[in-house]
Amino acid sequence: MAALEVADLSFRYGAKEALKGVSFRVQPGEFCALLGPNGAGKSTLFALLTRLFVARQGRISVMGRDLQADPRAALAQMGVVFQQSTLDLDLSVARNLAYFGALHGLSRREAQLRAGEVLERLDMAERAREKTRALNGGHRRRLEIARALMHRPRLLLLDEPTVGLDARARAAITAHVHDLARSDGIAVLWATHLVDEVAPEDTVLILHRGQILETGRAARIAGDRGLATHFMALTEEIA
Ligand code: ADP
Repeated sequence: MAALEVADLSFRYGAKEALKGVSFRVQPGEFCALLGPNGAGKSTLFALLTRLFVARQGRISVMGRDLQADPRAALAQMGVVFQQSTLDLDLSVARNLAYFGALHGLSRREAQLRAGEVLERLDMAERAREKTRALNGGHRRRLEIARALMHRPRLLLLDEPTVGLDARARAAITAHVHDLARSDGIAVLWATHLVDEVAPEDTVLILHRGQILETGRAARIAGDRGLATHFMALTEEIA
């Protein structure tokens, strides 16, 4: 069963068609990079996947649960890291996680245990008691990823999670999330316009002007000229 299945999804803002018949699947353990220039439709797709918007056409299912018919079950399988941070900076790292755990129905004890696990997983165990405001940008992002894992989702969505971070923090976060896919079998959908965040064995979905132009293994799509050149050429041809 696919962790995420999107079938024939379309969406318009008034007369503006933002997504046109988008279909793809992400399997458990797969790191799927959703690559698209600004305006491609990445945020619109994320808004539909997280039910911020409701699609009039098309179908979305998460671990076999239809998002429209059974939103609670579908969303329970999904962890999300939005582009804009939603951490409470005045709370400690552990408290941010505990609140989110409570939101998902975890008991205080469960939430405490799980917070320890997810912080360990993101190499942040020693920061549990720190004020979130004291964390640098990279660690704040890692905390958001840890938080998105609190309820053990099988699908992790990240909308341009490295925006504003320096090279070292970007590399650390990219590596952590690749490892979550490979070692923990989590399906990852990672939206970006930065080709260097994609590993050769990742799946790439190239989205442009609301349509999927190409999909497949990054190494195959990159061919001899490399993913960056290919991506630019492809999105410029159809500009
Ligand atoms: P991306 O996240 O890839 O940059 P978006 O999903 O934000 O792309 O936008 C896709 C298209 O929809 C763009 O052409 C954008 O201008 C348009 N769009 C986005 N939000 C709105 C809106 N609220 N009203 C009208 N058009 C919008």
